[in-house]
Amino acid sequence: MSNNNLLNETHNPALTSWVESANIENSDFPIQNLPFASFKLKGSNEDFRVGVAIGDQVIDLKAVFALDIFDGDVQAALEQCCNTQLNAFMSMGKHFWSALRQALSKALTTGSELQAKLVSCLIAQADVVYALPCQIGDYTDFYTSIHHATSVGKKFRPDNPLLPNYKWVPIGYHGRSSSIEVSGSNFKRPKGQTKAPTATEPSFGPCKRLDYELEVGVFIGNGNDLGESISIDNAEDHVFGICLFNDWSARDIQGWEYQPLGPFLSKSFASTISPWIVTSEALAPYKAQWTRDEADPQPLPYLESQHNRDFGSLDLNLQVLIETETMRNAKQAAVQLSQSNFKDSYWTVAQMVAHHTVNGCNLRPGDMFGSGTQSGPNPEEAGSMLELSNAGAEPIQLPNGETRTFLEDGDCVIMKGWCKKEGAARIGFGEVSATVLAAD
Ligand code: CA
Repeated sequence: MSNNNLLNETHNPALTSWVESANIENSDFPIQNLPFASFKLKGSNEDFRVGVAIGDQVIDLKAVFALDIFDGDVQAALEQCCNTQLNAFMSMGKHFWSALRQALSKALTTGSELQAKLVSCLIAQADVVYALPCQIGDYTDFYTSIHHATSVGKKFRPDNPLLPNYKWVPIGYHGRSSSIEVSGSNFKRPKGQTKAPTATEPSFGPCKRLDYELEVGVFIGNGNDLGESISIDNAEDHVFGICLFNDWSARDIQGWEYQPLGPFLSKSFASTISPWIVTSEALAPYKAQWTRDEADPQPLPYLESQHNRDFGSLDLNLQVLIETETMRNAKQAAVQLSQSNFKDSYWTVAQMVAHHTVNGCNLRPGDMFGSGTQSGPNPEEAGSMLELSNAGAEPIQLPNGETRTFLEDGDCVIMKGWCKKEGAARIGFGEVSATVLAAD
């Protein structure tokens, strides 16, 4: 099944922009991408506002609206972008998202007669800071990588790694949205209760097994009314876009607290997302076949559709890097810890949406899902240190001679993502990074 019916002129790999930096090979933000963020000039007192990335620039959509060069649905969409965050625009739905994308694509294309006017709306990304792209009302974290679920399960329950519901239910828990911050927001090592397996009582203090989780963040656009469900066939229409997500995790706190109701303080101290939301439409060339092993239970009907089989997966490369304080002081570049791909996920984004709403639970514009840690089938594709260091038993060797079992103070974790294949423009996600600070 080809993706052709999902594609339009905005995906044409031959398109170039009059913003020259967008045409550089391996740019994260070519004209085929056009992701959204909330930004303002560094050091300024101005309000955050909504922008779209093009090459190494941001196009200020409030300024574009003020030019009054568009009309109809495009100008209506721009009007909703004249806010500090994206929720109002996200709530408009696919028709308006697509109308604005097409207009911006055309206006930014080489030779556009709008160049002279739009050039005044550009600001260098090097000169801006970001806020959360939208107000995240509710955040749900899934657990969609069977490779992660199995290897983590082995560490917590060696005799029973994968619980019997895993292959039937897209497992998730309700996370905490108040502590989600945008890339660059450093945070203090959390403190809490932990109990070593051999101890008779818990102790209190700074987390000793601090970890990252390599995840994808999924943003809901227009939601659903309480009591109504979103069918799997309509699910993707409700997804505005995707970002990179680091779900920091305190493994020692988690191990003691997680039964019987799931993770709590081991997750809610900090989570970090990349500033740019790459839209569902930009990702159309990378929607890929999804299959379920014949030996496994097939999805229940509400989680099953031909469209999901044909296009439910996303071929998105994910990478984690670390820069320790020692490396930073020596001006050494960050080094890769692992790479994986979101296409290895056991459940698709559409299945997450359909499952989340099947009981009538309402999703709202700006709600975010975490995909769960994306670990691939091979051990070196693990998306957390818990897996890479075999729960601390096998230290990870870094090129400068340092080792890590879990994160130390001063460690900066960087995650990157990109889609790339023959016949389509490369779509980059930028990055999410943050540094662990010492506990008080
Ligand atoms: Ca997680």
